[in-house]
Amino acid sequence: MNLILLGPPGAGKGTQSQRLEKKYGTIQLSTGDMLRAAVRSGSELGQRADAIMKAGQLVPDEVMIEMISERIDQPDCAKGFILDGFPRTVPQAEALDAMLADKGLKLDHVIEMKVDGPALVTRVTGRFTCAKCGTGYHDSFNPPKVAGVCDNCGSTEFTRRADDNAETFGKRLAAYERDTAPILPYYREHGVLKQVDGMAEIDEVTRQLEAIIG
Ligand code: ADP
Ligand code: ADP
Ligand code: ZN
Repeated sequence: MNLILLGPPGAGKGTQSQRLEKKYGTIQLSTGDMLRAAVRSGSELGQRADAIMKAGQLVPDEVMIEMISERIDQPDCAKGFILDGFPRTVPQAEALDAMLADKGLKLDHVIEMKVDGPALVTRVTGRFTCAKCGTGYHDSFNPPKVAGVCDNCGSTEFTRRADDNAETFGKRLAAYERDTAPILPYYREHGVLKQVDGMAEIDEVTRQLEAIIG
């Protein structure tokens, strides 16, 4: 099963991908996580991406298309994948269609997670992540069961993203509306677009996704 979760920054794509990965064994492919790993590694790409991400802008299409194409070829994607953060522009969506056709793969579902702007900023400014296993949390909406301890791996170290501040968030949301929202009609025309209510509680969003996936 191959799916795309689409939605603005803070919609819950990462949170739900992690849950679906556990349940269905389909790998979460987060282009944001891949870029942050490149930044940490200090590679040439990482250095370039760092400035772009801090400015709330998009990394060039050709870089992202190559990154995702190579990633899909890895053996751990054989059971399927959940794209989280890709495609983010119409050219990326078109390139994805072409590359999947080349690889003999297809998309089963493209699911839009709808969330209001004011809720999004509260979500991203309260977001943090386990430094060891990457499990996502929120200060108020999704804290670890034991404060300061990761539910998944027991680690006590967490990180916050440099771009999860109100100012950069505003630029990222603008980029979403300008460059990413036009993907929605593209998939609607192809008859694969579905929606869930991203404003609902985390468990309820998971139920809605499972109802679509079956
Ligand atoms: P969020 O989960 O808040 O939507 P991501 O972690 O997906 O954010 O992305 C963080 C940043 O990484 C983006 O603001 C952008 O700079 C860059 N990025 C991630 N995926 C893409 C992509 N497919 N195309 C271009 N830039 C990307
Ligand atoms: P995205 O990957 O779309 O940028 P995340 O999954 O990282 O979004 O979620 C953003 C923040 O909001 C995280 O701190 C997460 O714990 C929290 N969150 C996710 N889904 C919900 C929800 N349905 N209700 C409230 N908070 C949520
Ligand atoms: Zn952890």
